[in-house]
Amino acid sequence: MKEFTRRELLHAAALAAATGFLPGCSPTSLGPSPEELPGYEPGKALPWRNWGGNQGCRPALRGAPSSEDELAELLRSAPGVIRPVGTGHSFSALVPSDGTLVACDLMSGVIAADRERREAEVWAGTRLHQLGPALQAQGQAMPNLPDIDYQTLAGAVATSTHGTGPRFGSLSSTVRGLTLVTPRGEIIGCSRETNPEIFDAARCSLGALGVVSRMTLANQASFDLTETTSFEPLGDLLDDVEARRDRHRHFELYAFPHTEAGMAIATDEGRGEPSPTPEFEGDPLKMARDAFRKVGGLPLVGSALYEALVLRVADMPASVRSGPSYTVLTHPRITRFREMEYTVPAEAGPLCLREILDTIRRDRIPVVFPIEYRYVRRDELWLSMFHERDGCTISLHQFVDEDYRPYFDAMERIFRKYEGRPHWGKLHGLSAAELRGLYPRWQDFLEVRESLDPEGRMLNEHLRGVFGQSA
Ligand SMILES: Cc1cc2nc3c(=O)[nH]c(=O)nc-3n(C[C@H](O)[C@H](O)[C@H](O)COP(=O)(O)OP(=O)(O)OC[C@H]3O[C@@H](n4cnc5c(N)ncnc54)[C@H](O)[C@@H]3O)c2cc1C
Repeated sequence: MKEFTRRELLHAAALAAATGFLPGCSPTSLGPSPEELPGYEPGKALPWRNWGGNQGCRPALRGAPSSEDELAELLRSAPGVIRPVGTGHSFSALVPSDGTLVACDLMSGVIAADRERREAEVWAGTRLHQLGPALQAQGQAMPNLPDIDYQTLAGAVATSTHGTGPRFGSLSSTVRGLTLVTPRGEIIGCSRETNPEIFDAARCSLGALGVVSRMTLANQASFDLTETTSFEPLGDLLDDVEARRDRHRHFELYAFPHTEAGMAIATDEGRGEPSPTPEFEGDPLKMARDAFRKVGGLPLVGSALYEALVLRVADMPASVRSGPSYTVLTHPRITRFREMEYTVPAEAGPLCLREILDTIRRDRIPVVFPIEYRYVRRDELWLSMFHERDGCTISLHQFVDEDYRPYFDAMERIFRKYEGRPHWGKLHGLSAAELRGLYPRWQDFLEVRESLDPEGRMLNEHLRGVFGQSA
């Protein structure tokens, strides 16, 4: 590798460091630009912003009830459009309202645990990172988790947030019962036996039916996991992906655009010997972007050089993490980004990913963020991306300081071809008519919604667009 300077290699090494970030890493209408978002102005209501910094609002009222009765009273009298808010980790405009934001932060923690049935009733505002240790204290654990654990339980459930593994559905599919407080202040319990129609709508509701106050989760006995991350040629990985998916409890891969490099993350039960944590200074993904900018654009040789750098860096031993399940399944995220994710039918996953990577290379789309590829089991929830279809989820990321639209727009055209369903919490440009065509129980959802919120008090502009309802 004499042809690369040490500095270039260090920059490229950031790609390897990115493994510390990754494993566990609105309509064109794809959302407003940050300049359009409200900023702080003395004398005006405090602005709210999401994690990705691409959604914001200036709510007249922020309510934080500490009981279901308080929540019901708040909803009856709340001004303007009412939107429930979790930790703002959605990229789509589900939350913004200049009327009322309702946070369930004060309704947090485990209410009761049934050791024999391995179920736990939990307040909706509980953060996932609080839930792991709280369930462990009861000898229980959630069977699967998303990449991160900053979200609230209710926020994650409202969008069918998921992890990876073909035997595991989304978090919403593990809900056995829930309590919903409607905008009229009714407190409604629902489960498969009680109000089953509301239950099927409310487990993935986009926060459009009312505010969920508590839920009962189907868990399992607490368990340990060991996660192994290794770099491998992407072609080999994709050829073998279905076998690996079936062999491991959890399996996902990352594809590095403009290269043949892939990263496999396989997670299985039991304790293993963790490898030492690598030490890197700075933001690894931004360093990778610098490397791409430096060599990627060189005439004729640019992409080959970039690929050689990545493959060189990727030539490293596997890394291992091990511990209680909730510490291994989730990961810190240190780089801010915006994200689009689509779920395509599981069997179409490899083909769809190949087409995405070929298009990025052919059209020289400037993206270094690795593309995440996971599997999720089907369910029966009316608005779940996994409704009656085993799914393969493909997630695209772009830095907060870059315009994601050209990249996401181009990729969305591919996802559409594969009948992809967009993640409700991530960016997409589908119309109400297109969404309706993807969900057989769409009309049933709208009818339940209408019956619980006939005045449309839960609908902000984004949700009116999603459901095709005029103001
Ligand atoms: C860094 C990062 C990593 C991510 N990783 C994953 C991942 O691995 N897998 C995945 O599937 N997604 C992932 N997401 C997306 C994220 O899990 C979802 O967008 C999730 O909905 C965010 O939860 P939240 O608590 O932040 O809720 P918010 O984003 O604040 O709200 C989300 C929705 O929940 C509703 N809501 C909130 N509280 C209630 C309530 N009490 N009752 C009714 N509705 C309510 C809101 O109205 C809104 O519709 C990630 C997002 C980020 C930023």
